[in-house]
Amino acid sequence: MSMFVWPEPVTDFVASVNASEGPGEGWYFVFRGADILQHFDEQGHWVPLSFAEASQFHAGTDKIHYMGTMAGIHCYTLEVPSETTGEFGNLRSLFGKTDAMMFSLAGRAVQIVDWYRSHRFCGRCGKPATEHRADRAMVCEDCNIHSYPRLSPSIIVLIHRGNQVLLARNHRFPEGMFSTLAGFVEPGESIEQTLIREVEEEVGVRVTNLEYHGSQPWPFPNSLMLGFHAEYESGEIVLQEEEIADARWFDCDNLPMIPGKVAISRWLIDAYLTRIGVPVAND
Ligand SMILES: [Zn+2]
Repeated sequence: MSMFVWPEPVTDFVASVNASEGPGEGWYFVFRGADILQHFDEQGHWVPLSFAEASQFHAGTDKIHYMGTMAGIHCYTLEVPSETTGEFGNLRSLFGKTDAMMFSLAGRAVQIVDWYRSHRFCGRCGKPATEHRADRAMVCEDCNIHSYPRLSPSIIVLIHRGNQVLLARNHRFPEGMFSTLAGFVEPGESIEQTLIREVEEEVGVRVTNLEYHGSQPWPFPNSLMLGFHAEYESGEIVLQEEEIADARWFDCDNLPMIPGKVAISRWLIDAYLTRIGVPVAND
């Protein structure tokens, strides 16, 4: 049992599109399609490849993108052909096998690889697009369209009333798991409008006193989660049944199974428990 402190953001990363020189020493995040190479150090932690290790992987047709520097270390994505052998897995497979800094870099890397794979051709005219020299953009010269990596802002919210919180489960959750509510921002909405609309749509209640706590990139595939607490105002729970399998008020000292400590949903829950003086579980 312990107090909760909101995780520190990773701040040592300097993003850049162009390295000062060609690929050299650094960290290489190797992808086959959307999957990342499973590569572990002697302690069993997932780590990127060194330049020498990545060179052995080189098939000559690979695509390298420069990501920037992490505390001065150059970081690259390396995309290898689909026939490349080796053990690859999706980004989720790194949960619990690496630290927050490395996971955040792997999350950046997967989104750069996804951006490049998804914008090889102009979405309007279908002609091949080219990489912009200075920006992370694929460009159609004819249409003057710049395609940047797609980011999808979304809200995630813990609804509270005194010693209770409202948690829900959607149909895809593991049996017994409940979490906070979440939803994507629609064109033209403010974040606050999104939050109020999503809560009403999904569980039928009205909330007030929105408090922003922090954010988490969630690269599955490209969400940016903006985390809030919101106070219950009125209404009974009415489920949006296509999306929500169950939603209930839970006493804070008797919560169901909730997400692990890697997720902002858990940080929001633990922050509220700490605020009202309920001890936080360690796992
Ligand atoms: Zn075009």
